[in-house]
Amino acid sequence: MMYRFTFNFYISMITDKLQKAINEQITAELWSSNLYLAMSFFLARKGYPGMTVWMKKQAAEEHRHACRMAEYIISRGGVVKLDKLDVVPNDFGTPLEIFKQVYDHECRVSKMIDMLVDVASAEKDHATQDFLWGFVREQVEEEAQASNIVDMLTHAESAGICVVDERLGQRI
Ligand code: MG
Repeated sequence: MMYRFTFNFYISMITDKLQKAINEQITAELWSSNLYLAMSFFLARKGYPGMTVWMKKQAAEEHRHACRMAEYIISRGGVVKLDKLDVVPNDFGTPLEIFKQVYDHECRVSKMIDMLVDVASAEKDHATQDFLWGFVREQVEEEAQASNIVDMLTHAESAGICVVDERLGQRI
């Protein structure tokens, strides 16, 4: 019957393998969101209101990534499955150590996104590859941003040492 062919105009459904891989990434994004939220609470407790704001926004961004991926699965006729999240650490180090951790984590996320692109490519799913390129580009920004903050904090730390050094030089 002719009307059946109308279905052929739609992009095909996402494959099970790719759906599973993106669902796993959704869990990873939500875990990242919790990690940054825990960091924000730690920074608030340590008396860094500015960094607390930054980290809360970072947590919200990871939450948005998870939602974007979920909406994509749905738009491709798939099913979103939210998994259990592992606990995140609640104790962190100095601001410099925290942002180094952010940088390392973002590098790991970049690798995960790259692996997702590989799965989409192996499944010959062009639409999903196109969708994922946005995240590949975003990870370049995420890494650069975290790396810049690590640099700023490193400079701030040496500037602080210079202040102490100058004071010590004033000993009578
Ligand atoms: Mg993310």
